Amino acid sequence: MRLIDTHCHLDCEPLDAALPEVLARASARGVIGIIAPAYDAASWLRIHSLAAAQPGLIHPALGLHPWAAAEPLDLDELASGLRECAAVAVGEVGLDSKIDAPAMSQQIPVLERQLELARDLDLPVILHCRGAFAEMAAILQRFDPPLRGVLHAFSRSHDLARQFLRLGLHLGIGGAVTRPQAVRVREAVAAVPLERLLLETDAPSIGLHGVEAVATEPRHVREVAAAIAELRRVDVAIIAEATTHNAAELFGLAI
Ligand SMILES: [Zn+2]
Repeated sequence: MRLIDTHCHLDCEPLDAALPEVLARASARGVIGIIAPAYDAASWLRIHSLAAAQPGLIHPALGLHPWAAAEPLDLDELASGLRECAAVAVGEVGLDSKIDAPAMSQQIPVLERQLELARDLDLPVILHCRGAFAEMAAILQRFDPPLRGVLHAFSRSHDLARQFLRLGLHLGIGGAVTRPQAVRVREAVAAVPLERLLLETDAPSIGLHGVEAVATEPRHVREVAAAIAELRRVDVAIIAEATTHNAAELFGLAI
């Protein structure tokens, strides 16, 4: 079985300190690719060197996360960073209304400028969105042709899923779908088109059913795939094959 974790913060602890073991455990479970998004300018350099040390396995994405939207955004520096590390996406970028600072008024222009850069460089985007789906949809709607990318850590309803699928996005499905009580997202994942689903862990930020966030690793995409397979009543190999194909196509990975 071949799996791709499309969202994992490998430069964060405890993953970074145990990276060789983390990667070995992932590969033992069938993980053939990991997309590692940066979140601030300091992490651009870390992600660049992690990916350079594991070509073909760790794929870098660079961007300024909404939590870091107060940092100065140097678009020229971001563009050359993306080129130098052969990044597969601009990310992680987005909107988060559930934090006190930076304010949405500060987050929105930082997102818009990075989305325009992604369009100009013809790269997909990795989107973080909490509590700001209307604002996010309004921004994405202005792009014609639509941007390519993923709404990561999707944990919402089928209605909201449909809205973002219509905008051309993929949905990144992670640990939330493994929780029996997460009825809303489990209904959505059972119903949306398989060709728009991607697997992710968002390790070490989001837990799975029975696994604390801090203990999550890329190997846990296997549990995510199994949960999706159960909900869609198909063999897990079908979910692995389809989501790996989707990730390779969206991010231009050679697999
Ligand atoms: Zn993330």
